[in-house]
Amino acid sequence: MKTMPTIDQNLTEAPVATSTTSLASRAENDPISRTGGRPRVVVVGAGFGGLHVAAKLARADVDVLVLDRNNYHGFWPLLYQVATAGLDPASIAYPARAILRKYPNTQFLMAEVSGVDFERKLVLSGDKALPYDYLVLAAGSANNYFGDTALAAHTFGMKDLDEAEQLRNQLLRAFERAVVEPDPVRRAALLTLVIIGGGPTGVELSGAFAELIRHVLRKDYPMLDIAQARVLLVEASDRILASFPEQLQRSARKRLEKMGVEIKLGTAVAAVDGDTVTFKDGTQINSSTVVWAAGVRAAELVDALGLAVGRSARVKITPKLNLPDRPEVFVIGDMAYLEGYKGGQAYPMVAQVAMQMGKQAARNILALIEGRPLGTFHYLDKGQMATIGRRAAVFDAFGIRLSGFFAWIGWLFIHIIYLIGFRNRLVVLTNWAYNYFTYDRAVRLITGAERE
Ligand SMILES: Cc1cc2nc3c(=O)[nH]c(=O)nc-3n(C[C@H](O)[C@H](O)[C@H](O)COP(=O)(O)OP(=O)(O)OC[C@H]3O[C@@H](n4cnc5c(N)ncnc54)[C@H](O)[C@@H]3O)c2cc1C
Repeated sequence: MKTMPTIDQNLTEAPVATSTTSLASRAENDPISRTGGRPRVVVVGAGFGGLHVAAKLARADVDVLVLDRNNYHGFWPLLYQVATAGLDPASIAYPARAILRKYPNTQFLMAEVSGVDFERKLVLSGDKALPYDYLVLAAGSANNYFGDTALAAHTFGMKDLDEAEQLRNQLLRAFERAVVEPDPVRRAALLTLVIIGGGPTGVELSGAFAELIRHVLRKDYPMLDIAQARVLLVEASDRILASFPEQLQRSARKRLEKMGVEIKLGTAVAAVDGDTVTFKDGTQINSSTVVWAAGVRAAELVDALGLAVGRSARVKITPKLNLPDRPEVFVIGDMAYLEGYKGGQAYPMVAQVAMQMGKQAARNILALIEGRPLGTFHYLDKGQMATIGRRAAVFDAFGIRLSGFFAWIGWLFIHIIYLIGFRNRLVVLTNWAYNYFTYDRAVRLITGAERE
């Protein structure tokens, strides 16, 4: 019986530091290349972009290897519901191997990529190397603290499952501590949540936290004066949801304020320590839970690549989605900087851009292999939306601008469609129905060790 070589064998056969073999002889020793002899496409990242590359290449005459530092695909648009105790982390993530095993030409390897040797066409993971013929970099984004280490140390981010769980744990721990805190000033700080950044993540978080406190924690903690609990949404500019039309910004703001969220516009943060947020105008708020939702940049991997970058450390690419001097290397999604959106801005860091870039990159890889001209990336803008609590959202798509209940129904519908996995859809729908009718949040658990 012919046995399939494993990817792990391949990793051990190509150590970077000690390798003196040429690329050609190493490729001969590379079990995956040898089996098919087909071009190998390595995709870094099993996110929205990376998965669409693999899906589009599934029937092509190539071998695809998808790498990710996690063994799952994360559905980040619902991450805020993990942080606010509405959903279990497992219901918004799906095993990458389970997604990719249906593509016969595709393998998955859990590996953190630390760099790329573009000359020798090797993807580096620790002290190991993986050869590629075509490379797609789709490692997504990271929190941007603009070099402020105190900000990074004393705020909670919202970029992955770990961070969302840490935030949920933190808020619930703060309420537990408030119960036994005799000092009223300290108690008020424990009950104060500050969210910095009035984009969709900050808006969705603040609405969901306000409801968690009002509907659930109020009943869980009858010994606390819940009127002391505050949710503040702090934004440096003069508006929230800056990318939305003005009428939707206004209705989102009104709705949040009605829910009890205190919105501070035109308020830039100067410093954050473990107990206090200091604003540039000199005012301060005592808070033990501060969320940083005001800065995003390309994945840290970019710093190791030595490539030209644009705003937010995103890698500059051509309209064909590859590097100007390395046509075989494509960069897509949040990692990529390409102007052309709405009259020349960079394409936004949203899932639709990543998915559509993934498909175009796959098409262009096949064009390169077959010697055809490459296609230019054209974006079909499917609009944007954000929820504001349990019955309202803002929705701006295909010329339709909605706010309130029907926008929320649209939001629910679209998120369920894009969520991967039947089980996850079922679990999320059941949870939403349960939360909606009972006003409860089932996942208000404090798990794992406290963040240092
Ligand atoms: C909280 C939150 C809410 C959001 N809400 C929305 C929304 O409502 N609508 C919307 O359109 N967009 C939303 N986005 C943005 C959207 O999720 C991203 O634009 C999209 O995920 C980008 O796709 P990507 O493939 O570039 O990156 P991702 O989907 O983030 O995938 C990147 C993958 O690369 C992996 N990776 C990173 N570094 C490495 C490494 N060094 N080695 C190996 N693997 C690595 C990661 O583990 C990850 O699986 C949201 C993002 C967040 C964080």
